[in-house]
Amino acid sequence: MTVPSFNRVNVSISALCHNYRLLQNRAGEKTTLLAMVKADAYGHGMLRVGRALNAAGCRCFGVAEICEAVALREAGVQGEILVFLGFSPGSAALFFDHDLTPVIFDIASARVLSQEAVRRGSEIAVHVKVDCGMTRLGIYPEEFSGFMAELSALPGVTARGIASHFPRADEADSGNTPEQFKRFRKLAPVAGSDSELLRHTANSGAILNFPETCCDMARAGISLYGYYPDGIAGQHAEEGEKLQAVMSFSSQVLQVKDVAEGVGVSYGHSFITSRPTRLAVLPLGYEDGLSRSLSSRAEVLVRGRRARVCGRICMNLCMVDVTDIEGVAAGDEVVILGRQGGECISADEIAGWMGSISYEVLCLFGNNNERKYIE
Ligand SMILES: *Cc1c(COP(=O)(O)O)cnc(C)c1O
Repeated sequence: MTVPSFNRVNVSISALCHNYRLLQNRAGEKTTLLAMVKADAYGHGMLRVGRALNAAGCRCFGVAEICEAVALREAGVQGEILVFLGFSPGSAALFFDHDLTPVIFDIASARVLSQEAVRRGSEIAVHVKVDCGMTRLGIYPEEFSGFMAELSALPGVTARGIASHFPRADEADSGNTPEQFKRFRKLAPVAGSDSELLRHTANSGAILNFPETCCDMARAGISLYGYYPDGIAGQHAEEGEKLQAVMSFSSQVLQVKDVAEGVGVSYGHSFITSRPTRLAVLPLGYEDGLSRSLSSRAEVLVRGRRARVCGRICMNLCMVDVTDIEGVAAGDEVVILGRQGGECISADEIAGWMGSISYEVLCLFGNNNERKYIE
């Protein structure tokens, strides 16, 4: 028997599937939607998300490291699994054993794969990562044709795809994405016809803001989980059907206490009550993903109303001001992320308080708490 925690992350499978269908529609029927499930599916749980998306028709997944890809396969996830961050030579065999697809960015990796392919009398398809201006992983466009020539000389290895990544696709009015896309488009014909290599460069921002860049495949991450990469602005700018938040996070009140005016609260007494105050003590701290940078800033929902954190967030505890909320008692539900009554707190709002982005909030909450899946 698993003993439940006070804190619970809920993951809505129906919202996830809604987003998947919406994004596949936006990308267009010629484009295969690849689901980015790195970072344990942005905190939503890679295995459950992978299986749910499989059932919804998704046949392509992306992860950072090979250990994630092996775990996905072992959980029975079907379709293509792309590993984006390369691999150490000792792991090459795993691509063959588990039918995984490496994304490569150096010829040394291709040689290792070739040797393994020859040893097994097998073949492997790879995707090549090109850096068209992100200045992160990848070979430069000028190196591409030479790279492809070297690759084609290696037995057992075939180039199946070409990938790049946009740094500013979340900015709908930036000229950077069209410019980078132009550079990317020039590369594919080098290897032959346009259709020979699967081309993919679009992330969520590009699927939503520059759908013409979707090509053969588009890689959706944050949008699958219900958030716009440009945050609240993107949510407001959306004119069509909206994405739905997949995650919510709730806890409960542990103790209610009344304190006088002028009393210091929590470590360092960084917060001093300015009136007689009723505090609710919550079993929530930075260990649960509630970043310490949210001290005296974050709000949570209690009885359908907003209550602000008072003072420092501790490792496992924090205090919120419930003076103006009638009847708060130990055991009351507290919503940190999501809806309660008519109120709603989104990961974008929390990210705003933290000086971060929704991506980080989802990883923090999702990967540090027990998750419950709701169909
Ligand atoms: C994480 C990632 C994505 C997805 O980005 P989102 O902004 O979350 O859609 C796409 N491609 C690569 C290479 C990534 O690392």
